[in-house]
Amino acid sequence: MLSADLIRLLALLLGAWLLGALAGQPLAGLFVAALLCVLWQQRNLRRLLRWLRRGSDASAPPEQFGVFEGICIEIDRLRERNKKRKKKLSRYLHQFRQAARALPDATVVLDGKARVKWANLAAERILGVRWPNDLDERVTNLVRKPEFRVFLERLDGDATLDMVSPVDATIYLNIRLAAYGDDEWLLVARDVTELQIAHQSRSDFVANVSHELRTPVTVFRGYLEALEAQQDRAPPEWRPVLEQLNLHASRMQSIIEELLLLSRLEQRGTATAPETVMVPELLSDLQREATRLSGEHAHLFSLEIDPNLYLSGNPRELYSAFSNIVFNAVTYTPPRGVIRLRWYRDETGAHMEVRDEGVGIPAQHLARITERFYRVDSGRARTRGGTGLGLAIVKHVLQRHDATLHIESEEGRGSLFRCDFPPQRIVAATANAGAATG
Ligand code: ADP
Repeated sequence: MLSADLIRLLALLLGAWLLGALAGQPLAGLFVAALLCVLWQQRNLRRLLRWLRRGSDASAPPEQFGVFEGICIEIDRLRERNKKRKKKLSRYLHQFRQAARALPDATVVLDGKARVKWANLAAERILGVRWPNDLDERVTNLVRKPEFRVFLERLDGDATLDMVSPVDATIYLNIRLAAYGDDEWLLVARDVTELQIAHQSRSDFVANVSHELRTPVTVFRGYLEALEAQQDRAPPEWRPVLEQLNLHASRMQSIIEELLLLSRLEQRGTATAPETVMVPELLSDLQREATRLSGEHAHLFSLEIDPNLYLSGNPRELYSAFSNIVFNAVTYTPPRGVIRLRWYRDETGAHMEVRDEGVGIPAQHLARITERFYRVDSGRARTRGGTGLGLAIVKHVLQRHDATLHIESEEGRGSLFRCDFPPQRIVAATANAGAATG
């Protein structure tokens, strides 16, 4: 089927050819008609171009004729549809931005150089980052806290930071970083004041109760020891009772002492005035203690210690952490088992490693083993005099030394406990050394 446009064109050419023929010049008539046609199309194309160039400001499409009219109508319709979609998108964007602005958690968008690109209202309230006033400012110039600077320098998506708000000292914040896009970061700071208060109340409660129990239990134990010393004067059936009483009183005392130590570790935060800790000497002392503890179980100790490797830290705390690991190895390794102690350094830092051939820990317990009072087999642990607080103390001490605890274990084959210290904690052996043992 021929379109109306084509029929019109053919009719025009035919008419022109006829007129030309009448005048004796049919080709000239055809030529003039074709020329007029081309000029007409040119005019229409130019009008269309002008209208298109005016973009979205253009009002109605120019009046056209034939196929151009169709083209104009289609383009106009597409434009209208696009305009509506754009409006809808910008409305969504606006709503999304408003929602993000109103988020209760402080949210700041940072570029790869930690410069502020966007921030919400909460960021102003709890971090002191104002948007748009602080656009392109480095966030570390706005949140002036050393721990925040260190945290940002690491740019680690898994890390979190707990700190006091730079705007209001009564607000505690938990800060996270998430990477997205092309080297862009989302910094989210959450107000965890209530959690912190609850945590503090729990710590205070535990510390107060332990403190209050300490004196009565010490008195109680003193009398029990006196009674036990004179047990030959007591009726024979009382002797096992006295033994049990003494055993439980001593366990109670250990729990109280360890709870007090844990609350002290918690309350002191991370700041300890570091000393040079002579770890090789500390470990030798520890091995002597462990041999004494092993007694007739006659465990074999193997030591591989770098004599020139010292740490910067708190000697008492480190002794407490290392002794918990070593004494556990003694407790959970059968008689005459081998316990290997290693103190060495590599490119990742310094490491204190204790490997035993003991009962091992089933895999499902490994993740929770450092929780307070968590025990694999509470009956077994209790009969061996465990409090369930030892590894919690280890974890806390290591945290305060920027170190981590690595555990590997296989049930029935043995365990490996390794404390990993970062290179910045290492002290050269020539440096002035402080006390070694606690
Ligand atoms: P506990 O005072 O009961 O030993 P810890 O916190 O030191 O408490 O240890 C928690 C639990 O981890 C222990 O009850 C024990 O089941 C397990 N455990 C710790 N060290 C070892 C080890 N070297 N071998 C086997 N099990 C261990």
